[in-house]
Amino acid sequence: MRSQDYDRLYLSPPHLGRHELNYLHKAIEDNWVAPIGPNLDGFERDICEYTGAHHCVALSSGTAAIHLGLILLGVGPGDTVLCPSFTFVATANPITYLGATPVFVDSETDTWNLCPERLREAIEDQLQQGRRPKALLVVHLYGMPAKLREILALAAEYNIPVLEDAAEALGSRHEGVPLGTFGAVGVFSFNGNKILTTSGGGVLVTNNAEWARKARHLATQARDVASHYQHSETGYNYRLSNLLAGIGRGQMELIEERVKKRREIHAWYREQLADVGGLRVAPVELAGNRSNRWLTTLLLDPTETSITPEQLRLHLETRNIESRPLWKPLHLQPLFAATPMYGGTVCADLFARGLCLPSGSAMTEVDLRRVTSAVHEIC
Ligand SMILES: *Cc1c(COP(=O)(O)O)cnc(C)c1O
Repeated sequence: MRSQDYDRLYLSPPHLGRHELNYLHKAIEDNWVAPIGPNLDGFERDICEYTGAHHCVALSSGTAAIHLGLILLGVGPGDTVLCPSFTFVATANPITYLGATPVFVDSETDTWNLCPERLREAIEDQLQQGRRPKALLVVHLYGMPAKLREILALAAEYNIPVLEDAAEALGSRHEGVPLGTFGAVGVFSFNGNKILTTSGGGVLVTNNAEWARKARHLATQARDVASHYQHSETGYNYRLSNLLAGIGRGQMELIEERVKKRREIHAWYREQLADVGGLRVAPVELAGNRSNRWLTTLLLDPTETSITPEQLRLHLETRNIESRPLWKPLHLQPLFAATPMYGGTVCADLFARGLCLPSGSAMTEVDLRRVTSAVHEIC
């Protein structure tokens, strides 16, 4: 049985370094595989040091971190939460866990993230209908910073707390400041395909000490301080294991190296595919932004080429190269058919015209040539 096809170029496979094993060994030698332990504390410290966030809580997934983050912002049954449509479903699922409803907002074409104009429309229309949005989820898709200046100004104007879903954006910066630290709460994912991985995991960051304490409490079944098992509210089993945190520590040593490599891969694609008519590597970085370039994405222009993203994807597949469509907008998902949406044509168009290319940080120049040659064969 083969668990991995070594000739296949995957979209974004895990890329382990040399030191993860040291942390795992130490945990096993010390018989400290559970519960919380030195690796967990160290991993949280590493994240705080790297991002500048005051507090970090390591959890079992990015989705769990969004769930707890929304609870910290007071989201509950009957509430509405503003959320981009153009994102992975894990951004919005925790809204529904809480009995709240997402209100979707379209993207702009520069960064592909929340459109500030549509966002203003959404807020004002919701207020007119007597619904005050309880929170605003901001996503930095594929690592590209959203238009934070405009979005944060709107959130401040209407006094709506921001939860930053930076699941894809560890290592990205806006005006030199790490993403994930602009909102009241920030979230990173360490899922298997993200820029760093603990195999599965996520973290919540905040500058609010009381919220960090509450997140830890909720993540460990909300156990009250008592020798017996006593509980006053509903909790969750969301804490990251001390073993996986050890992998996270090894990975965090490499974050700058990994960002550098993903950015080099992006630059390579941009240069090597510049001559392909009707194909554009996008989006570009606006001044003041640094994207971690988690995934390199491209757009095809149907007025200039007859090749569709699906044809390109299938062709790459014949060369054993994995590529993927961009995230399918949430307002187009059967799950959210009845959910309010402001705008929608921008992200629907990006979805129709886009593709994600293999971008893993372990890619070699031979791998990269394989992808660009395969693109040139058909485009
Ligand atoms: C990966 C991802 C998540 C969820 O993270 P998990 O660790 O897989 O639960 C949330 N939002 C976005 C935008 C993501 O890409």
